Amino acid sequence: MEKNTNSSAAASMDPFWKCLECGNTVRVAKPPETCPSCKKKCAFKDVTCYTPDCGGPGNIDPQL
Ligand SMILES: [Zn+2]
Repeated sequence: MEKNTNSSAAASMDPFWKCLECGNTVRVAKPPETCPSCKKKCAFKDVTCYTPDCGGPGNIDPQL
């Protein structure tokens, strides 16, 4: 279990989630239950970039 005491650093490293329903991308620690864009309960895919190719964490992987 990790506890984040440095909230500002954690916020900047929040992953990106892409709604598989409408393609909307949100940046939050956990994917929302309901998409703020299409208002549906949809699946969210983690599209955060984890490789230097797309800029590393903090960027969206354009391939996803
Ligand atoms: Zn959506």
